Formats: sequence, C-alpha cells, structure tokens
Amino acid sequence: MSFPVRTLPVLQNWDCHVTGTCCKEYRVTLSPDEVERIEAQGWDEEKDLGGLPPLKRTGMPWSRQVMLNHHEDGSCVFLSPEGRCRIHERFGYEAKPLPCRLFPFVLVPAGDHWRVGLRYACPSAASNKGRALPEHQEELLAFASELARREKLETQADGSLTPPPRMDNGERLPWPSVLRIVDGLMKILRNRRDPVELRLRKALHLAGDMRKSRLAGIEGSRLGELIDLLTTSADAGTPTNPVQVSPPSWIGRVLFRQAVALLTRKDHGPNRGLASRGRVALFFAATRFMRGTGSIPRLHAGLPEATFGQAEEPRGPLSPEAEAILERYYMIKVGSLQFSGPASFGLPFWEGFETLAVTLPAILWVARMHRERPREEAITKALTIIDDHIGFNRVLAGLRQRLSFRILARTGELSRLLAWYSR
Ligand code: SF4
Repeated sequence: MSFPVRTLPVLQNWDCHVTGTCCKEYRVTLSPDEVERIEAQGWDEEKDLGGLPPLKRTGMPWSRQVMLNHHEDGSCVFLSPEGRCRIHERFGYEAKPLPCRLFPFVLVPAGDHWRVGLRYACPSAASNKGRALPEHQEELLAFASELARREKLETQADGSLTPPPRMDNGERLPWPSVLRIVDGLMKILRNRRDPVELRLRKALHLAGDMRKSRLAGIEGSRLGELIDLLTTSADAGTPTNPVQVSPPSWIGRVLFRQAVALLTRKDHGPNRGLASRGRVALFFAATRFMRGTGSIPRLHAGLPEATFGQAEEPRGPLSPEAEAILERYYMIKVGSLQFSGPASFGLPFWEGFETLAVTLPAILWVARMHRERPREEAITKALTIIDDHIGFNRVLAGLRQRLSFRILARTGELSRLLAWYSR
C-alpha cells in the first residue's frame, strides 16, 4: 500500500543547481540491492575510477556498512572532473543509489502519510531556489515507495508505516496526538507578530509545560484544548523583549560553545576544517572553545577568521528577510518531524525539539562571524553549516551530548541563549 506525500504549507522551493555539494561532501550508504546493482555495472577501477574501488566497507563485521568510495578530497569516486555523475551518464538517472536521488529531501513517515523535510546543507534549499515543493510531488511519491521498500517498512496495526516518536517519559502517544502537538508548535512558529527567537522561546515554554503533563488517555479535542491552554500560558509567561531575559550563565555559555564546536565541525570533503591537521589540533580547538577567548578555531573551512569576542558583539534585531529565512527553516524542520524519532536517531519528541532549538543561537553566533556579508546572506551561510548535522550527526544523539542539551533546556539556559544572541 502506498502512502500519500504531504508537503507543508510553507513557501519552500528547491531544484538542483549542480553545486556539487552532495557529491563532494556526503558519505552515501548503500542498501544490499544498490551494492549488487553497482557491482553488476562492471566499473573498471583503473580506467573509470582513478584506481579506486567503487565501494568501501566500514564498521564492525556485525554492523558492516557499504558506502560509495571517495577520493582524498572527499568527492565521490563516481564524480567526473566535469562535475557529472558517471553512473547517471552511463546508466541513467534511475541507476543512481536512492540517497543520491533523494538529497536534499528527507521523507518522514507520519501516521497515514509521509512528510517532506529538506536538508538546508544544500545551498539551493537554504537559498530557496527552484520550483515550489508541491511541484515535486510526483518524484516524491516515487521516492516514498522506493524508500519504504528499501527500509522494509510494513503497514502497522494502526495503519501507519512506523511507530510514532516516543515522548520524553518513554510513553508512545498515538499518531493523531503527536500530529496535534506538532500542529500546536507550528501555530506558535507561524505567528509573525513575534520575532522567530521569541516564537522559539514560547515553544520551549510549551515544551516544558507539556513534558510535565500526563498525556496518557488525553486525546482528540481534549488534547487540543490542553495545548491551547498551555500555549496561552506560554504567550503570557514569556518575556517579549529579549533584554528582559537574564544573560546566560557561565556554565550555559561553556555548554553552548561546545555545542557550536560540534555543529560547525566538518571532518571530510572540501570544507574540511581543522580535522585535516589531526587529533591534536582538534584537542586544542576543543580547549579554546571551552575558554572562549582569542580566535575561533576554524573547524569548518567555510568559516571566516573571527574572534570569540566578535561572536559576542550584538548585531541588533534581524531584518524581515532574515526572519523569513529562519521561519521557513524551523517550520520545515518541525512540520516534517525531522527533529525526533527515526529521522533523528530516535531522540524523544521534546528532547529532539530542544536540540533543534539550540541551532538558533548557534546560527546567530556563526552569522556574527560573517561580518562582511549582508545579514540575510550570513544567516543563510550559517544555516548550511549548522543544518548539516541535524538528523545526520550521531554525536548529537549520544548520551554525553544529550545530557549537555538537557541541562541547557531544563535550567532555562537555552531560552537565555536565544534571547542573548538575538540582541
Ligand atoms: S553516485 Fe553520482 S550522484 Fe551519487 S554521490 Fe556519486 S557522483 Fe554524486
């Protein structure tokens, strides 16, 4: 049975502009069928692939993964010097592995349908260039069926393809309840009367209250009423002016800088940063992020030279254009459920949302490093760097990092950071 694909009511466009980002920066993991297909294509390592085998096996024998091989500079072994895909050239578009064709779309099963997310690590997605998402409907539908087969997803007893993400207490609410909560968050996120940072602070307020509520057995309109009530309370209880919010504490700043280090680190591809100088360089970079003084270690080659002091300098409120970019980003991430569950290494619902919320102060912090660029451009650039990790960097869902994000969220430091870096 095929499930419908729903794009979100957000003005988001995309088309491939052959930036080559995906073929140079990403590791493509293959399914057994894709491995078989590529092996059957008969590639000559010497003549076609610069002396490299087409595939690379990684991981322990019990969790072995097969990936497309890469050159030293990070580019895929099938990428030609002219920037074209050799598999595509020789065997056609359909012969490419599904992750190559799917990028930058992220399809997330959500009850009786699929939701469409996007990776803003793709410069065309971040810059909103191309056709509107609904115009990709036909290909998305085909991708969704192929993805369901590839991941061996079967229809569950409740008619959905996957179980809903767990809430933070381990409880699983039925899909309609989860989607109702997502609608509640989206209502806050689309409220243009508030700047995006305030919308996120209100959403975090709601998250804190919802986490304390026992939701088992509360469904349908009763759940809707509870969400409305808590949203009104978040509205009234969140200071509107960021200046009224206390500055983040010393510990909040240290944990935040560590999060920024993680979210800006690029270890492979053309934008590889300090990782190219080895582990010792990374260790010293980590200690500098801890201290927060002097020049900022360039963990990503796309970051300009800047100091920690410059990243702390207030830049004033964002322009309406910069606000619109961030609104689009958070509505896509939240509406598509890219922030929790299987799309985000199994993070529980609210924890996943709080992890996503850390990206806003991080984006504003990185955008301040791009002092020479217009504000909107600096925000877009920061987005492409930071979003690279959301749902794709396993470390974000590791125990140590989860504890760090939990401390930031549960002590109110995260709201303080949001207010602080929006000044
Ligand atoms: S197989 Fe082709 S599309 Fe996929 S990463 Fe390699 S060059 Fe790019």
